Amino acid sequence: MAIQRTFSIIKPDAVAKNLIGAIYSRFESAGLTILASKMIHMSQEQAEGFYAEHKGKPFFDGLVAFMTSGPVMVQVLEGENAVLANREIMGSTNPADAARGTIRADYATEVSENAVHGSDATESAAREIAYFFTDDEVCPRTR
Ligand code: UDP
Repeated sequence: MAIQRTFSIIKPDAVAKNLIGAIYSRFESAGLTILASKMIHMSQEQAEGFYAEHKGKPFFDGLVAFMTSGPVMVQVLEGENAVLANREIMGSTNPADAARGTIRADYATEVSENAVHGSDATESAAREIAYFFTDDEVCPRTR
């Protein structure tokens, strides 16, 4: 299996519930290594640009309002098949459909406030990493 990088956000609902450590523990237990991490409070422009593919959908304005409602943690994760591995531990977009033991099943109840974001492909991962991190903010493991 290929070593990949993926992009992740711990969303404002989970940050507000003090779940940063618990969710980081899920990443590391799943074999995902954190190569970059920071807390940010997204601007309206940042959130609109990040979710540009959803512009025009009925949930877009609410999504942007939610994502700018408080601080988030953004991170780069690396590991075997990291994109899919992260999507698996996140669970389905709607927490009501998420498998037991996934982050969204355990820590969220609403599709609109579902605790985490994770890239859905290697192409979007590269784009999303570059949207929030400069190259020198990403620290490959040297040991
Ligand atoms: N979303 C929403 N209502 C919907 C569908 C999506 O509020 O009916 C939000 C939800 O927070 C989701 C985000 O929009 O995480 C992006 O949607 P996507 O389909 O890309 O889901 P994801 O990749 O996050 O699982």
